[in-house]
Amino acid sequence: MRKYNASKRMLVTGGAGFLGSHLCDRLIEQGHDVLCVDNFFTGTKRNVEHLLDHPRFELMRHDVTFPLYIEVDEIFNLACPASPIHYQHDPVQTTKTSVHGAINMLGLAKRVRAKILQASTSEVYGDPEIHPQTEDYWGNVNPIGIRSCYDEGKRCAETLFFDYWRQHALPIKVARIFNTYGPRMQPNDGRVVSSFIVQALKGDPITVFGDGGQTRSFCYVDDLVEAITRLMLTGEGCTGPINLGNNSEFTILELAEKVISYTNSRSKLIFKPLPQDDPRQRQPDLTKAKAALNWEPKVALEDGLKETIAYFRRSLELS
Ligand code: NAD
Ligand code: UDP
Ligand code: UDP
Repeated sequence: MRKYNASKRMLVTGGAGFLGSHLCDRLIEQGHDVLCVDNFFTGTKRNVEHLLDHPRFELMRHDVTFPLYIEVDEIFNLACPASPIHYQHDPVQTTKTSVHGAINMLGLAKRVRAKILQASTSEVYGDPEIHPQTEDYWGNVNPIGIRSCYDEGKRCAETLFFDYWRQHALPIKVARIFNTYGPRMQPNDGRVVSSFIVQALKGDPITVFGDGGQTRSFCYVDDLVEAITRLMLTGEGCTGPINLGNNSEFTILELAEKVISYTNSRSKLIFKPLPQDDPRQRQPDLTKAKAALNWEPKVALEDGLKETIAYFRRSLELS
């Protein structure tokens, strides 16, 4: 695996969010200059406050739907709300963030000839009929449903990335990220791992949607950040799209049981209706990622959940 041999100027959009803040940490550790750009819609200054005094770190409040004229070497485009309750809160803004945000960041990359990575998503596969999902599967996506602002926005962003690559020979990387969890998720973001842990720690009922038989594959944030930084280091031949995540698949019911057990909670399960277009199953085929990045996820669900539980325990005590 090639290593960075010189410090670079890195732009991380959405850098004050869950994944973005861990990525900023990693890039600073690697010796780079990091510009974190965020409009703080779902991210917070708190996620990067430990970096604020660092001489190689800079934080800028900015919305990527507006142009940004700066000088950088590489761009990690992560700006976009990721949890269903947040991306459905203002769906038009969600599509704008994915599409206008991609155009602006691609325009910036084109002007300064920067390498640019897009945080795409397993949602581009919609409710998949192919299992596990391989990158050549085109997906089963509802274009007019409540998840469409996110799914179609991210699909259009991928189209833009590949058109800038074809039309302007821009060096691009498209990562299709599968469900990722860990410290700095927001306690109220409605995503399943954060919700279950917070409910279990408070002794509240655990809200299982549907019968809990739907599956997901959960990746711990450290593994994901490692994969993203490795993807950025690959040569120009490696554009992706490339699946990144963990391929151990669990039902939501199994997740609920594990969370209850690791928190020693007395919470009971309650069943709520399954949201519209909620995918029944999801598991990444990681063959490409393993070959191209010499990488595979290492953190077992039990270990990752325990770290995340410890984080939420501390944050709930503080609040
Ligand atoms: P997050 O909501 O914690 O982070 C997103 C960040 O983007 C936040 O800090 C938010 O304030 C910022 N943002 C939103 N709109 C913006 C705008 N218009 N301009 C500037 N900043 C803006 O979510 P996350 O889980 O860290 O996700 C980061 C990226 O990874 C997203 O693009 C998401 O779609 C993608 N992704 C995440 C997962 C996952 O499981 N966490 C899975 C697939 C894809
Ligand atoms: N852009 C930006 N920063 C730059 C260069 C471009 O934000 O440094 C934005 C600008 O708003 C532009 C968009 O990126 O509209 C797309 O740029 P591109 O050069 O591809 O297209 P054009 O300028 O012809 O619309
Ligand atoms: N889910 C659940 N209870 C919750 C939140 C989510 O049962 O309180 C389910 C949800 O219906 C979905 C799965 O957990 O099947 C993952 O949901 P999440 O919003 O975390 O991610 P996504 O659906 O985007 O994969």
